[in-house]
Amino acid sequence: MRYVYMFHEGRGDMKELLGGKGANLAEMTNLGLPVPPGFIITTAACKEYYRQGRRLPAGLEDEVRDKLQVLEERMGRRFGDPAHPLLVSVRSGAPVSMPGMMDTVLNLGLNDETVAGLARITGDMRFALDCYRRFFQMFGNVVLGVPYDRFEEILERHKEQRGIRLDHELTAEDWREIIAAYKGVVPEFPSDPMEQLFMAIRAVFDSWFNDRAVVYRRVHKIPEDLGTAVNVQVMVFGNLDEKSGTGVAFTRNPATGENRLYGEYLLNAQGEDVVAGIRTPRPLEDLAREMPDVYQQFEEICRTLERHYREMQDVEFTIERGKLYVLQTRKGKRTAEASVKIAVDMVHEGLITREEALLRVEAEQVGNLLHRRIDPRAEVEVIARGLPASPGAAVGEVVFDADTAEKLGQGGRQVILVRTETTPDDIHGIVAAQGVLTSRGGMTSHAAVVARGMGKPCVCGCEAVRIDPFHGRFYVGDLVVKAGDTISIDGSTGRVIKGAVPLVDPELTPEFRELLSWADQVRTMEVRANADTPADAAKALEFGAEGIGLCRTEHMFMGPDRLPVMQAIILAETPEERNAALARLLPLQEEDFYAILKTMAGLPVTIRLLDPPLHEFLPDSETLTAEITELRCRGGGDELAAKEELLRKVRALKEFNPMLGHRGCRLGITYPEIYAMQARAIFQATVRLIREGYAVAPEIEIPLVADAAELGILREVVSDVARQVHRESGVPFSFTVGTMIELPRACLLADEIAREASFFSFGTNDLTQTTLGISRDDAQGRFIPVYVERKILPEDPFIVLDRRGVGRLIRMAVELGRAARPELVVGICGEHGGDPESIAFCHEVGMDYVSCSPYRVPVARLAAAQARLRSARPAAARRVA
Ligand code: ADP
Ligand code: MG
Ligand code: MG
Repeated sequence: MRYVYMFHEGRGDMKELLGGKGANLAEMTNLGLPVPPGFIITTAACKEYYRQGRRLPAGLEDEVRDKLQVLEERMGRRFGDPAHPLLVSVRSGAPVSMPGMMDTVLNLGLNDETVAGLARITGDMRFALDCYRRFFQMFGNVVLGVPYDRFEEILERHKEQRGIRLDHELTAEDWREIIAAYKGVVPEFPSDPMEQLFMAIRAVFDSWFNDRAVVYRRVHKIPEDLGTAVNVQVMVFGNLDEKSGTGVAFTRNPATGENRLYGEYLLNAQGEDVVAGIRTPRPLEDLAREMPDVYQQFEEICRTLERHYREMQDVEFTIERGKLYVLQTRKGKRTAEASVKIAVDMVHEGLITREEALLRVEAEQVGNLLHRRIDPRAEVEVIARGLPASPGAAVGEVVFDADTAEKLGQGGRQVILVRTETTPDDIHGIVAAQGVLTSRGGMTSHAAVVARGMGKPCVCGCEAVRIDPFHGRFYVGDLVVKAGDTISIDGSTGRVIKGAVPLVDPELTPEFRELLSWADQVRTMEVRANADTPADAAKALEFGAEGIGLCRTEHMFMGPDRLPVMQAIILAETPEERNAALARLLPLQEEDFYAILKTMAGLPVTIRLLDPPLHEFLPDSETLTAEITELRCRGGGDELAAKEELLRKVRALKEFNPMLGHRGCRLGITYPEIYAMQARAIFQATVRLIREGYAVAPEIEIPLVADAAELGILREVVSDVARQVHRESGVPFSFTVGTMIELPRACLLADEIAREASFFSFGTNDLTQTTLGISRDDAQGRFIPVYVERKILPEDPFIVLDRRGVGRLIRMAVELGRAARPELVVGICGEHGGDPESIAFCHEVGMDYVSCSPYRVPVARLAAAQARLRSARPAAARRVA
């Protein structure tokens, strides 16, 4: 077993073995780019390390010594040599990028002797001591677990004593004293470079299981067993002088996708200084002026990398005395907006194909593009401006630490995490917050990168904000904002605003439209929307819906003009009374259906007849009892009698378990007049529209069917009405009757049901509840998270379809249904219809369409295309016109 590879022995496609960082360092080395030489200890070594109870596998140490020797020969320096010391960095690098989550140690190989050698070679004692103290801090913190603050305290105290504000004003003598004090904090500091090296290697392995890495993997669903590689690389120094520096750049703008180099750098700085937010870095354009040759060379390198990887890159570089080195490249994280623009632009530039572009944009992520923005017409009180680090607007209460953010966020509160700068330890707070505001750090700071990855609005480097976390407040000039006060942030412009601002709906960019048009050409499933009103329907059309997969009708029984009528319907003693009340609802509902069907202008519309239990339309018994008591005190009368009657009915209708009670088609069976009225309203609207020249053919959906007989009876009720309306109007029209499949029994008997149904629409919200026997409202905030945590369930089954259980029922129902009726139209209308993973499943089982909320329609269009591209299933002809 071989555990160590020189950079030139690796390749870019060996990420699993060499980690992302190592594989790309190898690839860049072989491309001939200026990469300081080094070697990679594989993830296999890491796995072995854990398998053996955190012991380095046999043979590894010898291999490392051998490769180190190769480096020494190449550099003409020796590790631990007091005259010509070689220094290295020891860098973590997992197969999947986890920025800043694991540890890296720079300047390794320094001790009291070699530091003198470094000073001699470079002719700069102050620089050598600066490296030494950095090494102390990083090694002490990462390897020996000394809190970083201990070093900071010593440094700050010394600066105070000397009356100095900035690090670079410290002299060599100052650093010597500071380092002496550091030694007091880490008495166990090893001076033998070889010992340092192996301790650092272990520490990198160990960092795979540090808390923040564990949380990060959980949030991003990265498997635990990948392990990390370790990169050992010759140091280059950005902290040598003013002709040296370090920076980070994206080959395109990661916020907007604009095709222009975008980055930040600091002169006379090393490694983490840029991202740590300690000094606010300068935009890369300045480098073009300051060191034009270096800038030009860097631009050329970035172009090479983009052409080579055919992907936007995030590049780390260091300049040592005017010489440029590349230290890392990886696929650049970007906002949803940038992701779409870059993919579409790269197709136009001939770098990638349309299909690649479709697969590159994460369907879930483009949901972010449909995020709301601040109403541009709103009057807002801007209190400060920072960098627009991650777009979108967020409103929430101010909190100053990640733990509180997490606690309040989990309790359903909306919070904005306000920090001087974020560190990887804040990750759980960022997850829970609506948005992030920092007072320091640039566009590539930790907060910015992480927020963009999560699609959370973020404003960073907002230097006007002065945070006093101990008193739980921040100041902007004279203004005081306390923890718990509401602010808004606008990650698209960098504005920080007092109070809650009104937000408005998003629109699709031209690039997004283009990408979606490609998706439409590829996908075989139709995408419909769940829309109950003409306004929803219009929104759905705007986002590209090809029909309505679920039009609920309950709201047509609500509202001040309708609810009393509905109550009269429920309270009616005789069919005559009931019909009289129903007749009053008929014209109102006819108008509702007319408006929706007209908006959809001939596209398919599935209308679900009344579904919820009747008591949802009645006042609750406690309110009624209180009213009755009051009326009694005032002496009663007709009103009292009426209320008492109502209370009696309400009590009689009370159900122990309404979800499984008198609802859905069971209402239609017991009160056929209600469904008949709805059918009449639909058909009368249809007739009017046909007269106006629209090609309307409503799909009438019967909910909660468990048996073909229910559907047979109700189909007859609907067909009867159709015949009447046809006779009365003389206008021929067509329609279909189908059912929502949301009970396990309906899946089991799907062949029988299909003989009565033109279509199946899987109501996966209820089907999930009834299959798992779990009531969603009682489960989601409570035991589902525990089930997911303990891996009993892979995901919340109400968000991602439970393939193994519910999915098996669906697959079976589709097969049985199609066997009995080959032309059966099959779709999904539960919330899963907007979830990319669930959509992939729908494609696999051969559904004709998915239906989701209007705002998810673009996500579903893309996800349906991706499902088609990723699946082995041949391109079926589109089944539904
Ligand atoms: P991370 O994965 O957290 O980005 P890195 O391993 O990339 O950690 O290293 C942290 C910082 O140190 C980066 O800015 C990187 O460019 C810098 N760095 C790493 N190795 C070297 C080296 N050999 N010489 C100079 N700088 C280095
Ligand atoms: Mg890095
Ligand atoms: Mg239902």
